Amino acid sequence: MAQRTISIDEQITVGSLADKLMIPVTKLIGELMKSGIMATVNERIDFDTAQIIVGELGLDIELQKNQAEELTPSVTVNRKANQSGEPRPPVVAVMGHVDHGKTSLLDAIRDADTATAEAGGITQHISAYQISHNDRKVTFLDTPGHEAFAALREHGAFLTDVVVIVVAADDGIKPQTVEAIRFAKKAGVKIIVAINKMDKEGANPALVKQQLAEHDLMIEEWGGDIVVVEVSALAKTGIDKLLDMIFLVSDVEELKADVEVPASGIVIEAHLEKGRGPIAICLVDEGTLSKGSFIVAGNTYAKIRSLETTTNQSIDKALPSSPVIISGFKALPKFGDQFQVANNEKEARQLAEKAGLAGQSGPRKGDIGGGELIRMINQANEVTGYPVIIKADVQGSLTSVIDSIKALDTDEVAVRVVSSGVGSINENDIQLAKSSGAVIYGFNIQLATNIKRLASRDKVDVKMYSVIYELIDDVKAGLSALLAPDVVEKAKGTLVVKGIFKTTKTEVICGGEVSSGKLTAPSIALVYRKKDQIAEVEVTNLKKGPQDVKEVVEGEMCGVNIATTSKVELQEGDEIRFISRETIARSL
Ligand code: GDP
Repeated sequence: MAQRTISIDEQITVGSLADKLMIPVTKLIGELMKSGIMATVNERIDFDTAQIIVGELGLDIELQKNQAEELTPSVTVNRKANQSGEPRPPVVAVMGHVDHGKTSLLDAIRDADTATAEAGGITQHISAYQISHNDRKVTFLDTPGHEAFAALREHGAFLTDVVVIVVAADDGIKPQTVEAIRFAKKAGVKIIVAINKMDKEGANPALVKQQLAEHDLMIEEWGGDIVVVEVSALAKTGIDKLLDMIFLVSDVEELKADVEVPASGIVIEAHLEKGRGPIAICLVDEGTLSKGSFIVAGNTYAKIRSLETTTNQSIDKALPSSPVIISGFKALPKFGDQFQVANNEKEARQLAEKAGLAGQSGPRKGDIGGGELIRMINQANEVTGYPVIIKADVQGSLTSVIDSIKALDTDEVAVRVVSSGVGSINENDIQLAKSSGAVIYGFNIQLATNIKRLASRDKVDVKMYSVIYELIDDVKAGLSALLAPDVVEKAKGTLVVKGIFKTTKTEVICGGEVSSGKLTAPSIALVYRKKDQIAEVEVTNLKKGPQDVKEVVEGEMCGVNIATTSKVELQEGDEIRFISRETIARSL
């Protein structure tokens, strides 16, 4: 058979790929999962991944890469290449292994900000902020993890100039540190290493430096070009030096951006706010963004109703490298969406619509929720699965938790352990839960504040237990909720048809005698001829003589109006059995 060739872009949503391959999206999601990729319908995978999956599926299809035709070409910019325009502040991301102090360091940096100290400080958490240090500005991205970092890069608008890799002096390089190093190197950005927790007794910066060398990061001290700063986020030491180094390193790059061109940038956070509607935090990449202008982000757009700094100060204009809070969007844009200014509302709407159409198939509105994903996966399987991620303190308790909850499986519903492990809940767990729709259960462990924050941002359910029976009960409740409810029918009363009075387009009116029980309307009713049920009908009204009545009891005669939504030709002698129907939730 001839091979089919399909052209796709460098990036494609799972939904679009399934469409092009002409296979159910659940099958594609399932195949991706087998390869360890938890992607939802709207998420993008790259060309190489698509190619591997097509191979795994054994399809006789050749993938071909489209020569990228960008829908919003003005947005994709290589910042480094832009050597014209005005100097702009550096954009810095802080990365590192969980618990090494990223959040604490960002807090310490924010506290060191002279400008906000005067403004009374910030209470609210925000995914980006700009501070002043020695009269110069620097923007920090509080990336919620490597996922965010990867997404920014993936969108072709990698806006980070410097990555600060935090390593705890008493713990050294760990898996996520290695991952951060890999990301930063791949992105070709400047790396600064902050050796944190220098106040701790077990601090061993020499060992960290040696480990850095083992990962090809040659520090200045040893003749390389990687700047290392020893800090303590808790004792607030070394923070000024770190900021100085950030400027020093980025000054080499002579960072500039054109302020005259139409503004563009990237959405780094979006959420709904009571009374304000969709709110997006955007990072301006190029140009000057003004209040009142129209911007398009992904498949939505806004007339910028309010423009604020991340300390909630209202501004009229925002320059490159500024993080800003924007209100006025018609719908929630997505994290990682690029934005650009449009000339007018019509153009904004058209660009947004075009972007919406570009990745057709699958749901288009916003992120797919976990529940929906569960439903979709379940369509492919007979048994309804309850996806969970289990983390526990030790292997022994992990095994007993998994064994106990697996024992709850029935023919209809089953626990599906998406992932499990010993140790605390981390960013990867949240990411996995988000994409698989799983609930995370923690047993005998603590939940770090930053992970808790991440979970609430990503709407991931995290449940912590220290008593195994309580955990089991909760899983049981989760499984029970997936059981199809029982439908209970109760007989109310029966009418024996004595005559058909009138048949119109919309209703049939008949009359008869109540042979048992009590009839009420409106009601559903089953029509029986001899012993067979011939129809289910909707009774809209009851009449005694000319009078509408609410109920008729045994022995009485009455008229019955039946809506002709279900086609039935009533005959004398038919029985109309009035019933009520109730759905009752089941539990295991
Ligand atoms: P993240 O997971 O990388 O964001 O780490 P956090 O900022 O949440 O910090 C993890 C733990 O390390 C918290 O209990 C902090 O109080 C502690 N910590 C962070 N920085 C320091 C530091 O400089 N010194 C000491 N002693 N503890 C720190």
